[in-house]
Amino acid sequence: MSLDGYLLSIDQGTTSSRALILDIQGNIISQKNFEFKQYFPNDGWVEHDPIEILKTTQDAINFVIRETNISPKDINIAGITNQRETVVAWNKITGKPVYNAIVWQDRRTENFCETLREKNLTKLIQSKTGLIIDPYFSATKIKWIIENIEEAKKTIHENNLLVGTIDSWLVWNFTKGECHYTDVTNASRTMLYNINEDCWDDELLNIFNINKNILPDVKNCVDDFGTIDSSFFGEKISIGGVAGDQQAATIGQACFKEGMVKSTYGTGCFLLMNTGNKFIESESKLLSTKAYNIFDKRDFALEGSIFNAGTVVQWMRDEMNFINDASKVEELANNSTNEIQFIPAFTGLGAPYWNSDVRGQITGITRDTSKADIAMAALKSICYQTRDLIECLLKDTELKSNDFTIRVDGGMSKNNLMMQLLSDITQIRIERPLNQESTAMGAAYLAGMKSGVYKDVAEVEKLWKTDRKFEPTISLDEADQQYNRWLKTVKGLINNG
Ligand code: ADP
Repeated sequence: MSLDGYLLSIDQGTTSSRALILDIQGNIISQKNFEFKQYFPNDGWVEHDPIEILKTTQDAINFVIRETNISPKDINIAGITNQRETVVAWNKITGKPVYNAIVWQDRRTENFCETLREKNLTKLIQSKTGLIIDPYFSATKIKWIIENIEEAKKTIHENNLLVGTIDSWLVWNFTKGECHYTDVTNASRTMLYNINEDCWDDELLNIFNINKNILPDVKNCVDDFGTIDSSFFGEKISIGGVAGDQQAATIGQACFKEGMVKSTYGTGCFLLMNTGNKFIESESKLLSTKAYNIFDKRDFALEGSIFNAGTVVQWMRDEMNFINDASKVEELANNSTNEIQFIPAFTGLGAPYWNSDVRGQITGITRDTSKADIAMAALKSICYQTRDLIECLLKDTELKSNDFTIRVDGGMSKNNLMMQLLSDITQIRIERPLNQESTAMGAAYLAGMKSGVYKDVAEVEKLWKTDRKFEPTISLDEADQQYNRWLKTVKGLINNG
């Protein structure tokens, strides 16, 4: 394969499908996204139309090819990254989905999850998959489709049912049904995959009553995922890399060494730490997951999430009318003179609290509390929650905070004030890259490593460039005092809540 040409990155997200064309230095030449409809058929249910997912992805690819005037012949290779855990089940003869995609946010299988917890399966599932029992992951969603949808039952009976996460759905369609594949990172979010042994786990398949032959073959992140049929874009394009979105961002941020952390501050926040080739069973309710399998480098990660990050800024903009644009929050918060506490538990709290019942709170308000004070407390609350996750990482690993660097991306990471507060409160060095499209870059790098554009992760590492670094400007004592005030307030909320 030639070492020139362009890379196609396909980024199938929760609200939109994107495509990017990059040159081999990693510069973005063109990008386009198309949003698609969200379905909420019942309380706590979230679905997507798999055909619309495919169509919007195809449209985005067509757009960037047309806009750049690049011949599909000059596309060296394609990589895919995708919303994780979301499942599709389809008929392999007709290609038709038997039901809508059930999205990662969907809570319909909570009762079944509770029965699994009551059967004391928590430890077994964690030791094999690194996950906690929760509707979030794919297994209970697949089981729900198989048991509740007549078309699924009929199709299984005819031996024609296939299931998979969104990457599998795209690969199967783009290869015209030739390849039913997934990669280790997506597999590791299903709750059916043994991350120690790198295989579908028979005992888990039994527990969920799912037959292995409906599942995709699991490949490494840099691997042969088949070829996009020429009927789509006029020429064949090989697919050489796949990873779930947060893992792709970890790769895009070049977090290839143990102790390297990436934290994405978008609508929510997802923080992953590379733990090297060690699978660590978290004792702090973090998730353990595959970071990637790249050639013979097979690393794990610990993952924690903050449910509400950018939503706090949206709330101040849309509901409070404090600002008319998210970017103005920095200027506003800079005028703060009083410390108050803001716990943005709009939809509960994630790790380490895992409490979906508590709701938000602002405390310590006095006569002279200002919008600026609320804005400052809101930004700090994201930093305190990041420190909550860091404290878990310190407990679960032998690392000290000096061993860490946090590489940030996402819309909120543009906020210099917040990045400085983050460094102060966590007492960790923060690095912001020039290119913040970490997720899409990750998919492109994986594909590029397959075609030989990049020899290995060391070459990818060289492409990562710093925009700005933030170092702590307050003492550990001061940081601890502030953090302890946060902890006290959260404890109060949870106890009284
Ligand atoms: P997603 O990928 O989850 O849609 P993005 O990475 O695009 O999110 O980030 C968007 C979020 O970042 C929004 O919630 C917005 O309020 C927030 N945001 C954007 N700019 C800033 C800023 N300068 N300071 C703080 N928050 C910001």
